[in-house]
Amino acid sequence: MPQQSPLDVPEGDPFGPHNLPYGVFSTPQDTTRRRIGVRLGGHVIDAGAVARALGSPYADVLSAPTLNPLLGAGRTTWHDVRRALTAWVTDPGHRAAVEPHAYALADVTLHLPYEVADYVDFYASEHHATNVGRIFRPDGDALTPNWKHLPIGYHGRSGTIVVSGTDVVRPCGQRKAPADPAPVFGPSVKLDIEAEVGFVVGTPSALGEPVALGDFREHVFGLFLLNDWSARDIQAWEYVPLGPFLGKSFATSVSAWVTPLEALDAARVAPPARDFPLLPYLDDSAEDIEDGGFDLRITVSINGQEVAHPPFASMYWTAAQQLAHMTVNGASLRTGDVYGSGTVSGPEVNQRGSLLELTWNGRDAIELAEGKRTFLEDGDEVTLTAWAPGPDGIRVGLGDVTGRIVAAR
Ligand code: CA
Repeated sequence: MPQQSPLDVPEGDPFGPHNLPYGVFSTPQDTTRRRIGVRLGGHVIDAGAVARALGSPYADVLSAPTLNPLLGAGRTTWHDVRRALTAWVTDPGHRAAVEPHAYALADVTLHLPYEVADYVDFYASEHHATNVGRIFRPDGDALTPNWKHLPIGYHGRSGTIVVSGTDVVRPCGQRKAPADPAPVFGPSVKLDIEAEVGFVVGTPSALGEPVALGDFREHVFGLFLLNDWSARDIQAWEYVPLGPFLGKSFATSVSAWVTPLEALDAARVAPPARDFPLLPYLDDSAEDIEDGGFDLRITVSINGQEVAHPPFASMYWTAAQQLAHMTVNGASLRTGDVYGSGTVSGPEVNQRGSLLELTWNGRDAIELAEGKRTFLEDGDEVTLTAWAPGPDGIRVGLGDVTGRIVAAR
């Protein structure tokens, strides 16, 4: 029997030619050279090598060691490159040029696919914010007075964004429970996850110029799964009054694969109904503003066991509103800016995207094969996976994001 071509992807594969997420990889034969890859089924195609073989005008942008030059090239180029890639992996006339540049996923090393510029994290799920409010402020209103007027966020630490598969060292820090007489220092005992969706900016903006709600797709290239590791004990003691700091800055894991927004056209959904009209720069109810939500179905697994299924379609604030809000003061965007959606939690208990909520701050342990868990133990491995509705009923798979907890140093 002839060997099957890497281009023969089974029908219905969530990483078929309708998807084509971008990543950066190296091979065991050439470990120092990073190349842009496009995922097709169980293979990664060396996009720059194919572009050169075919004499494509995109050979330079696809031969870079990161996605940043492509991200910065703008929406027209994103569209044209995607159209070219689609032809390369589907047109039988290109097979001979493409097949030599396909590598089995299991044989390559995946790297952080873009150089991260700035990093912002939001807090956009009403269910998550309500749960956290009830846990941390049981005597007050669950939602703060500003929550439904603006997408709350904070500036995170871009230099500690790591690619899926990177171990996460348990952070040390100060903690002080309300009943403790004084703070103590040591490894976090409430290490948690936050299942989120990240967005990466391609086209920059000028300082002083806000980005309008309707210009989201001119600036944002794609999305990916993101795990905002959070030390709840450090966070609870430090966060008043300026917000998250050391409880979150030790590591943020992102998928090795960026799904272009163009692959998710069939997954667009309207966000939940608003309780009252928003200020004009955030008001997405107008006819000419396209639906800003994405129907992404996320699964959270710990040590291979599924523990939650957060629905991204339930998010109150959209990525377009978050972009408009973070630039409304004139703050500029840079190519490689990353922003996180905030923890994705749905209305049901098994839709909560953090252990803080799943265990109600440690009150209700969950059962794993290894034993009960309230928060993460050393050796635990957390994986986020997701899919979205695609064209003709085919799923669009998102690249997973995995990280394993290792002991404090
Ligand atoms: Ca977060």
